[in-house]
Amino acid sequence: MAASYRCPSCNKPNDIERRQCVWCGTVYTKTLVDLNVEAVKEKLDRRSRIGMQKYGTTTDRSTLTRLQWLQHAQEEAMDLAIYLQRLITEEENG
Ligand SMILES: [Zn+2]
Repeated sequence: MAASYRCPSCNKPNDIERRQCVWCGTVYTKTLVDLNVEAVKEKLDRRSRIGMQKYGTTTDRSTLTRLQWLQHAQEEAMDLAIYLQRLITEEENG
């Protein structure tokens, strides 16, 4: 049961396999909304707005070299690995 999919008309949960809302009867012409995808999209939008306020520009700016972009990305990936390890250790230790 994929309860996280919601009807775009009435916003009530539906199984992803359904082609018609069990609540309001709307027939789906396209894929149902994945709330997890929507949550990430909202966070990206918010992050973009904060970045604009903070730096006054977008990531299109050419103030960083290609190498600097790669270094930033690697640093973020290393942070992610550490956060994941913290949670894995927590799960392993119960
Ligand atoms: Zn509906």
